Amino acid sequence: MVHCFEILGQKLVFDPVSGGLHAVDGVAWDVISALAEGKSLPARHPPAAVAEVLQEVERLRAEGSLFSPDRGRELYVPPDFAPKSLCLMVAQECNLRCTYCFAGEGTYGGGLMPEEVAFKAVDFLLAHSGTVRTVEVDFFGGEPLLNFPLITAVVDYGTENARAQGKEISFTVTTNALLLDEGKTRYLLEKGINVVLSLDGRKEVHDHFRRFPNGSGSYERVLTNARRFFLAWSALPRSSYCYIRGTFTRKNLDFTRDFRHLVAQGFTAISLEPVVASQQEPYAFSEEDLPLVLQEYERLAEAYLHLRRQGRPVRFFHFELDPAGGPCLEKRLTGCGAGFAYLAVGVDGRLYPCHQFVGKEEFCLGDLAGGVSRPGLVEAFRQAYVYNKPCAGCWARFFCGGGCHAAAYATSGSILKPAVIGCALMRKRLECALYILAAVS
Ligand code: SF4
Ligand code: SF4
Repeated sequence: MVHCFEILGQKLVFDPVSGGLHAVDGVAWDVISALAEGKSLPARHPPAAVAEVLQEVERLRAEGSLFSPDRGRELYVPPDFAPKSLCLMVAQECNLRCTYCFAGEGTYGGGLMPEEVAFKAVDFLLAHSGTVRTVEVDFFGGEPLLNFPLITAVVDYGTENARAQGKEISFTVTTNALLLDEGKTRYLLEKGINVVLSLDGRKEVHDHFRRFPNGSGSYERVLTNARRFFLAWSALPRSSYCYIRGTFTRKNLDFTRDFRHLVAQGFTAISLEPVVASQQEPYAFSEEDLPLVLQEYERLAEAYLHLRRQGRPVRFFHFELDPAGGPCLEKRLTGCGAGFAYLAVGVDGRLYPCHQFVGKEEFCLGDLAGGVSRPGLVEAFRQAYVYNKPCAGCWARFFCGGGCHAAAYATSGSILKPAVIGCALMRKRLECALYILAAVS
């Protein structure tokens, strides 16, 4: 299988198995498209030109960068249950009431995670991570900084115990930045903790959804704190990462303007994600929005490329691609590993496949005290890889990994049925990333 596509006036041919990317002219594009679709060769081009392309195709096929066979199905065995990453819901409460929040506008009311539960979670991770040398703990919520003393205690406990077992441990905080004052900034930087800062873009876009309980917008305070942290982080020689994570919805289909806005505020590592929501929500994307969203991704790709050509060091998460190298087969086929390589722990110590499933009884895997009590559910997630989904025939499968299970469940009611809209967005993002790669190569 190859994917032939045209974007912003550029014809590209992509071999998803090898990661081979070829910028081609009209004759080559027509010939390769015909071969890919099993159609007869185009008669409108001079036979000599077609013959030349066929010769080149054979050369690339022999070299392994075009029409490469996919042996993943034969080679792949889903990994055993061995979580290497744990998401701790250290605060199942929030100081904001964001309309699109998966936690019911931040009101799910589970309270703060006790130290005993958090320490047991670290023990669980170290005990079940098998031969994995580096494990990860994500502090999540709600708003995790509401439980900052617990975070500091877990960092000490986790670091000490991981070392005692010959392992390394890294930490990440995903925060709305409201409580990210100078003291916490210093602490997170000193400890080398990764930080994901939630900020959606322009003030009117951010404030539309990300509001305080009294209904007022949080933009000003978030921007002040996020900028202080990001600038301090940028100034350090670093091993940790930090980026701005924004959400866009059908209310801001012009999200390139939010990207530009974030760059203008000094942020150089940015991710903008489409909202995960049930189709009933007024801010969820519908199929009729797709043409506009896809066009907007092209606009975003142009804006990003423009910055790169100016030598500006801006990173946009979805446009960074290493088609020929990149993640291992496991990661490529299972995406996030939710349910067996990655788990979430609720404030009460109950285990879930990931943070998006916390509190959904039908997805509770067990708890820290008794371990996994529903192996069938773990197995369902282990088996939810690309060859067991409609993804097997999708050209994007090795880069998408079969999509987000939570988004699939939210839209189709099954983790095995990826959302049509989500797939269209994923494929477009990949096309944009490939276009950028071709343009800068
Ligand atoms: S884009 Fe959709 S169909 Fe393609 S691999 Fe991803 S989830 Fe599967
Ligand atoms: S299922 Fe979706 S939300 Fe959950 S960890 Fe995977 S990608 Fe993230």
